[in-house]
Amino acid sequence: MNTIFAKSVPGRCSAVIDSDAPDAARMLPPNLLRARPPRLPECSELDVVRHFTNLSRQNFSVDANFYPLGSCTMKYNPKFLEYVAALPGFTRLHPLLARLGDSHAQGALRCLYETERLLCEITGMEAFSLQPMAGANGEFAGVSLIAAYHREVGRDRRILLIPDSAHGTNPASAALAGFEIANIESRDGMVDPRALAAAIAAHQGNVAGMMMTCPNTLGLMETHLPEIVKQLHDIDALLYYDGANMNAILGKMRVGDAGFDVVHLNLHKTFATPHGGGGPGSGPVGVNAHLLPFLPVPRVEKRDGLYLLNDDFPHSIGHIGPFYGSFGVAVKALAYILRLGGEGLARVAEYAALNANYLKKRLEDVLDIPFERICAHEFVASAPEGLHALDIAKALLDRGFHAPTIYFPLIVRECLMAEPTETESKETLDAYVEALREIIAQGRDDPHALGEAPLTLPARRFDETAAARHIRITEDME
Ligand SMILES: *Cc1c(COP(=O)(O)O)cnc(C)c1O
Repeated sequence: MNTIFAKSVPGRCSAVIDSDAPDAARMLPPNLLRARPPRLPECSELDVVRHFTNLSRQNFSVDANFYPLGSCTMKYNPKFLEYVAALPGFTRLHPLLARLGDSHAQGALRCLYETERLLCEITGMEAFSLQPMAGANGEFAGVSLIAAYHREVGRDRRILLIPDSAHGTNPASAALAGFEIANIESRDGMVDPRALAAAIAAHQGNVAGMMMTCPNTLGLMETHLPEIVKQLHDIDALLYYDGANMNAILGKMRVGDAGFDVVHLNLHKTFATPHGGGGPGSGPVGVNAHLLPFLPVPRVEKRDGLYLLNDDFPHSIGHIGPFYGSFGVAVKALAYILRLGGEGLARVAEYAALNANYLKKRLEDVLDIPFERICAHEFVASAPEGLHALDIAKALLDRGFHAPTIYFPLIVRECLMAEPTETESKETLDAYVEALREIIAQGRDDPHALGEAPLTLPARRFDETAAARHIRITEDME
């Protein structure tokens, strides 16, 4: 048993409680007091440090492994961002101090304000709110803004169009905001303007907007964007841009200029802040001028050289997250953007696309690549005939590489979707290619050989359905 409870020894302790610490029993009303003390592990500090350090080493992480998880941008998280966000002026600030007039939180408010301005500059949008706490939360905010827009002009439009190459959270967010979803089938990996026109005609007068991931989850830039934008704007429907993975277009294309009305970004992907277990996330939502009145409150404003919070937006969709979002994440993203500057951000896009295309090219002869075109920051491939993407993914773990995303997007057979990111070296990419070649050769020799992988990790294969259905996130107390 690998829990901290197994290491517990009665009477052992690593905390010293001051004898003059306030006595909770006297401060809390009796109905809030526990009847019995909690069962806690009794361990020395060293036991605790070793336990959690060793647990953390059983995980894959960007700090330890190449992590080409498509659509999830596991780029390196520079350590100086942690230093900046941990400055006591930020960490010791209570969020409500920002409400207490001029002098208390000017620096923090300025960070939020400038982050919003920089995101506007990067995307070509009019305004941003940093409040959403994750990408999907930003999507929910964004589609709620679309709903508010139509409501405001007195229209009841119920349909959001979503291409089959969109990210899976898109339909989920749209449904949560009360929309019905109409799927647009792609053609050659692209949104097909004719399929779009047909969908608009089929749902006449009822289309509120369309959500697009671009480059899409096949790693391809849409080639019909101007036509798509026109078709939607002609019926006063709005265009949503899923900008979770902006790596390929940073400094190259501004989605506002391209005609998108609302966008969310993932600071915890594109802007190098940690995610997964290392989160929290941040999914700022940006809008053009006609959606501005509906943005979440409070908004950060600058007046007469002072920063303040303004709640006075009667058409706002309200709060979408607590306070002002993931403040520390915004600070990290701000530091990242300022450190790279415009030129550095454009170079991110160049290297992200270069690395993905290099990897795709080098794997062409062992994987089936369904789209021959130059890709953006990621690409999709199918496992060779007779082999399973799952087995290849598990075999990669044995060789010290995190697996690419598998079986997504759904429209690609036995899909392996890889995003190397701009922060990886050629040597790392080459080592990954060699590992994949070796695995595929092994699988060809003996199709059952890969079925056992991973062999070297603390856990083998999971029942993933059961793990999701009967999730247990606390340590076993028994
Ligand atoms: C990751 C991702 C999301 C969702 O972001 P979360 O922070 O995980 O909620 C949405 N769209 C795309 C394209 C993504 O890659």
